[in-house]
Amino acid sequence: MREPREEGYDDLLDALESDTGYYLSCPAGHGSLPPRQVCPRCGDELSEETLPATGAVVTFTEVAVPTPAFAGKTPVVLIADFGPVRLTGELLDGSDILEVGSEVVPTVASSPGGDRHVGFRLASER
Ligand SMILES: [Zn+2]
Repeated sequence: MREPREEGYDDLLDALESDTGYYLSCPAGHGSLPPRQVCPRCGDELSEETLPATGAVVTFTEVAVPTPAFAGKTPVVLIADFGPVRLTGELLDGSDILEVGSEVVPTVASSPGGDRHVGFRLASER
């Protein structure tokens, strides 16, 4: 069952919405995304670090058969590399010029059903 608010993930969305995105890092520099209590790689304690302002597209795909929340849309979903962490989200503009290596800025997107998730805009479109 889905909680009305996902601890950690919603905190990250709130942060992205106010341009204060962050990720979690352990003393060894392993990056991870909330929600995490300890480093998923070494089990050490985590601290919050500032997310780089832009990431580079690693891969992307157009979702031909969207979930019901996206009925009528064929969202482009991409994975972007921010150095220590990678974020997965929906491209919100510029899908015709998107390519691997494109710089994207993370933000918050809403599905027609009202759920929030990570979205990206092309940095060159800003
Ligand atoms: Zn670690």
